[in-house]
Order: sequence, then C-alpha cells, then structure tokens
Amino acid sequence: MQGRRSTEVAVVGAGAAGLYTALTAAREGGRVTLVSAMPLAGSSSYWAQGGLAAAMSDQDSPQLHLADTIAAGRGTVRESAARVLCDEAALAVEDLTRLGVSFDADRRGRLALGLEGGHSVRRIVHAGGAATGRRLIRQLSALVAEHPRIEVLEDRRATAVLTDRGRCVGLRLADGKIIAAAGTVLATGGAAALWARTTNPAGATGGGLLLAHSAGAMLADLELVQFHPTAVAAPNGADGFLVTEAVRGEGATLLDHAGQRFVDELAPRDEVARAVQHKMALTGAASVDLDMRAIDPSLFPNVVSALRRAGIDPEHELVPVAPAAHYMMGGIATDLYARSTLEGLYAVGECSCTGLHGANRLASNSLTECFVFGARAARAALAEPSPPPLVGADVAGPSTKPPPLTLESRNALWRYAGLERDGAGLRQLTDDPYPLVRLIAHSALARTESRGAHQRRDFPELDPAFDGMHVMIGRGHDASPISWE
Ligand SMILES: Cc1cc2nc3c(=O)[nH]c(=O)nc-3n(C[C@H](O)[C@H](O)[C@H](O)COP(=O)(O)OP(=O)(O)OC[C@H]3O[C@@H](n4cnc5c(N)ncnc54)[C@H](O)[C@@H]3O)c2cc1C
Repeated sequence: MQGRRSTEVAVVGAGAAGLYTALTAAREGGRVTLVSAMPLAGSSSYWAQGGLAAAMSDQDSPQLHLADTIAAGRGTVRESAARVLCDEAALAVEDLTRLGVSFDADRRGRLALGLEGGHSVRRIVHAGGAATGRRLIRQLSALVAEHPRIEVLEDRRATAVLTDRGRCVGLRLADGKIIAAAGTVLATGGAAALWARTTNPAGATGGGLLLAHSAGAMLADLELVQFHPTAVAAPNGADGFLVTEAVRGEGATLLDHAGQRFVDELAPRDEVARAVQHKMALTGAASVDLDMRAIDPSLFPNVVSALRRAGIDPEHELVPVAPAAHYMMGGIATDLYARSTLEGLYAVGECSCTGLHGANRLASNSLTECFVFGARAARAALAEPSPPPLVGADVAGPSTKPPPLTLESRNALWRYAGLERDGAGLRQLTDDPYPLVRLIAHSALARTESRGAHQRRDFPELDPAFDGMHVMIGRGHDASPISWE
C-alpha cells in the first residue's frame, strides 16, 4: 500500500545506539529500516570525546568495573543491568574492532587506555585521541549505508509510535508515511539540551521519550540528569563546549580565581560539578579555571584545536569552565534486553533507562551501553512475531503534537531543576507548556531526598528508604518510586 512499508526491525536514530543496533540486526539476517532526523553531527555520539569503558587490561576485570559503576551510582544502580554492561563491554570493543574501528594503541600495539573520574584503573578505550565519537560514527554509518539489508531513511523524523491492541506495531513519520515493524527500537538520544546550559547538540531534547510515553510506555528516573563540571564558559561561540574528563585523568587541575585547587578532580562527576558550582556561588564568579597547561596537546588534538578556534590557547592560558547539563540517566524504562513496558517497543542508548547508571553515570559507560544493549535489542527485536498487517483503523498514535520547546522552558528547567532544586521551584515547572519538562518536574518531586545528580535543598540528605528505588512515571503525571530488579 502506498505510504506504507513493512520491515522486521525499525530503528529510530543514527547515533551509536541506532547504527549499532541496525548493523547487528542486519548482520544476523534481519531486514532493517533506519530512520534518522539529523545529519551525523546532530547526534551526541558524534561529539563523544573520552571513549567507552571496558575492562581490557591485565589490572582490570568486569567485577572491578562493576564495583566502580555501583559506587558512582550512589545506591541506585540496578545491579543486574550494570553486570550485563561490565561483562559484555569487552565483546563490544572486539566487535567494533572487527567492524574496522581503529582504537588508539600504545607503542607496543596494546590498547591505549584512558583514565576518567570514578574509575579505579585505566579502562577508557578511545580513538583519534579525543575524537572517539566521530571515528565510531563515521565507520558505523559507512557500514550501515552499504549494508544490503538496511534501508536508511535520512532527514526523516518519527512522530508517533503506533499501537494496535496494546502492542507497538511500528512508526508514523512526519511526512505521514507508516512503517510497520515486528520490533521497533527507539535510539533517539538524551534530553540534556532541554536545559538552557548544555554540552549536547540542540536536538537532544528527549523527543523519543515523549513518543514512548504517548504510546503508553513507562519512563524512569527523569529527575536524574548529570551535570558535567567542565563545559567551557565563554561568550564566544564555544560556550558549553565540553572539555573531556580525560584531560583531568592526565593531570589537568581545577583552580579557583585565586589559583587554588579546591576538589579532587577525579572524584565522581556529581561531586566535582557541585564543588565547582559551590565555588562559583561563594566567589560570585561565572566560572572556575581548568589548568591544562602541562598536558601534552597531542593527546587531545581536537579539544586543543576547538579551544584555539574559540580564542583560548590551553597550552598557555587557563580555560574558564562551569557545569552544564550533560547526560540523562533517566529515560524509557527497559529490561535487560532493551524491551520497554510496551510490547514490541525497545529503547537503547541514552533515551533508555536500564537503571545501570543509578543516580550518577560513571564516565564513558554510556557509549558502552549503546553497543552492549544495542546488540541485545537487535537480537530480541528479531525474535518478535510479525505483527498483523496494518489496516488504517487498527493503528493508533497520539493525535496531538507537543508544542515547540521554548527558551523560557529551557531557562526554567535550568533554574528550577538544575544542580540544586527544591519543591517550590519544581512545582513551578509542573505547569510548563512543554510536556517533558512537566514529567521531569513530577519525577523530581517524587524523589524526596538528595542523591547523586539529584540534590534537593529541602531534602538535603540521602534517604536510605530510596536505596535501590527508581522513580517511574506512566500515563499522566503519576510518578512513584519503585524497587526494580
Ligand atoms: C560532548 C559530549 C561528549 C561525550 N563524551 C562521551 C564519552 O566520551 N563517553 C561516553 O560514554 N559518553 C559520552 N557522551 C555521552 C554519549 O555520547 C551519549 O550518551 C551517546 O552517544 C548517546 O548515543 P545515542 O545513540 O543514544 O544517541 P545520539 O547519539 O544522541 O543519537 C540520537 C539520534 O536519534 C535521532 N533522532 C532523535 N529523535 C528522532 C526522531 N523523532 N526521528 C528520527 N530520528 C531521531 C537523532 O537525529 C540522532 O541521530 C558525551 C556526550 C556529549 C554531548
């Protein structure tokens, strides 16, 4: 039928998660349709600098990686999901290498591993210095474009997840086209660009979360967004540009305006970001300084050249930095095979919430998650029974479009749901015109404690009653903490 096509697996998004899910499904014999709204640089994956975490050295093990992930996650890591990540990370690195991704090696030809905050050993696998995302995305998208079983629909936006008798049966695109699929995988990325100050590309506003929620899937932990401590603070086009934590792993320090260090630079991100925020509040300054003058610029060529283009010479000058919203730990609630609570609908990568990051993602676990859970999603989606052929009356999708996201909503989110929040501010967001802002506010109100990335002035202590609890939100705004294993 015109305007309709059917496929075994429909994937939305061409970041690391979507490309790898599509490739895995196709390599296993499936027919895949990949829908992508943006050019490559529109994905967060393209901008990833540090790399992906995997226990690859003799000093490391999946158990140690798991212990670091659990410690960073502040008592809310879903251990079963974190264990899957840490156990399968090395397999993902090996598969990517087979697919032609050339990871950086040391002089003896072994993987050169970086160190980032919260990791007890070097375990960050990277490519092109700090150009990991770029290298990954270029290679994976070239393979996807060439694969005979993958049809790529570029510059096309999914606008609805379609359901039939309580099951996801495919997608509707902005041009009205319908894609019927046995398994539908959302790999639409995160939502950190909802906040006014962000390291993310402009499109990272959680559109996939709204598609899933409108179709009836549960969302989890929307109150948990990670703020990165070292985003450039400069009114010169470089504002929000991320300086990877790996530079601190190589010895870069954070200084106040008196030139004094004030924090362990390799403490977990939530701690460092809050220390920076407090220092700024105490001194009234709009930034602190990152001192990377002693760092070999050849280790981070693209960071150094981006800073130079912005008029900052990091070999001779201090780099002004301040926190910015960076990574959404919450998302579409999924099981260990990336299945959402709506049958036939999957979510992988930053749009998903497996619970593995808990209340504070361990650096570089997110790219690993895209590959480990992307492979799992592909295999599970391939095993879905074919849905009945779609006929017009069967197909239900939301009839209303969300209003456009405005700067007012983004400013309000930064102000009332930033590094520190309280009930009075969050309640102001519950009337915001943008639906995802309201869902975030309701989730944050339901977590009446402070933990990891979620710090409430009115509930400043960690409440042990929330240990292992994840805030779930279903239809409407009904958010409640549940224990999730
Ligand atoms: C500057 C920066 C540096 C980072 N560094 C690291 C790092 O070193 N290590 C690490 O582990 N993590 C890092 N992260 C986080 C990591 O990059 C992301 O979590 C990860 O890349 C997310 O991948 P993804 O495939 O889920 O989403 P994305 O890469 O964001 O891709 C989402 C895709 O979905 C598409 N899309 C969205 N909605 C629709 C729609 N409705 N229809 C069609 N297409 C749609 C987008 O166009 C895009 O192609 C970094 C993030 C940033 C911003």
